[in-house]
Amino acid sequence: MDFAGEHVLGVDQFDLAKVERLFEVADRMLPYARRERITRALEGAVCGNLFFEPSTRSRLSFGAAFNRLGGHVRETTGFAFSSMAKGESIHDTSRVVSGYVDVLVVRHPEEGAVAEFAAATRIPVINGGDGPGEHPTQALLDYYTLCRERELRPGSLSGATIAVVGDLKYGRTVHSLTKLLALENDIRFVCAAPPQLQLPDALVAKLRERGHRVEQTGDLADGLREADVVYATRIQQERLPAGLELEGVQERFAIDAALYDRVCRPGTVLMHPLPRDSRNDPNELSNDLNRHPALAIFRQTDYGIPVRMALFALVLGVADEVDTTAREARWYRPERFGPHDTRPMLT
Ligand code: ASP
Repeated sequence: MDFAGEHVLGVDQFDLAKVERLFEVADRMLPYARRERITRALEGAVCGNLFFEPSTRSRLSFGAAFNRLGGHVRETTGFAFSSMAKGESIHDTSRVVSGYVDVLVVRHPEEGAVAEFAAATRIPVINGGDGPGEHPTQALLDYYTLCRERELRPGSLSGATIAVVGDLKYGRTVHSLTKLLALENDIRFVCAAPPQLQLPDALVAKLRERGHRVEQTGDLADGLREADVVYATRIQQERLPAGLELEGVQERFAIDAALYDRVCRPGTVLMHPLPRDSRNDPNELSNDLNRHPALAIFRQTDYGIPVRMALFALVLGVADEVDTTAREARWYRPERFGPHDTRPMLT
């Protein structure tokens, strides 16, 4: 099973064997992501991060993951400071940058644009989010987190109830994640959202075709009741069509500690791709859950590093050379990253 030279554009290119290989490599990246060890597997390699849409997590975590493999990162953010502001095509930009770097990570506001970058180059291109389309690496790290939280291997989630909550229509992470989880058998997807933000019909049909159960509800408490995992999402304000009426929706689909304790089964895992929209109170996962052991959102972001390291190592063909160049790291590191973390990092 080899990914060398492949683009990573969408989750449909993954089957269970590929997911297993990726997760097995990600497991081996944990000591590097925990900053216990240093590797130089990608020493001399350069990654180009082209981000044409806002990002904190994806851009920094792709960059840090590449750095932790010993490689360098060059990046450009937004259109204003790139030659696209002078009318350069995706084709030309992609071909030009291919002469500078060994792998490209691209985020773009238009669905399909990252595939256009890929069509114009022979270096691997990784989709860092293409508008309302896909966010495959987020889905892979979500799947990895989910497996680690429930102590399961991919392929053994059969019978699980996954509640997806919030903006299921315009949120690309939920599209990628549900499609990826469709590799499992007999998942029960409970979609809790107002009708105007429900999961697109075509996706519902696809999940059902693959033998999964899909239930839709406009009542949040109903949606949470039997969930093993809750995946909350932000309303994608930047993608909503003008005039869409969403009065009161944020409040009706916000989960706080009282609601969790009242309706969720003990141990229900709480996930979110982040960012939480903290301009309004309550937000999708209230701050009063920050100390709750079920809140996996920062474990999710932490796992983004080993998963993205594994992807880079695989598409550049060095996955089995990471340990041969390793040595111990000596600088200070805390045992837990955050003030409210309930577990040591990346366990
Ligand atoms: N960070 C995720 C994305 O880029 C989720 C979000 O923005 O709500 O799609």
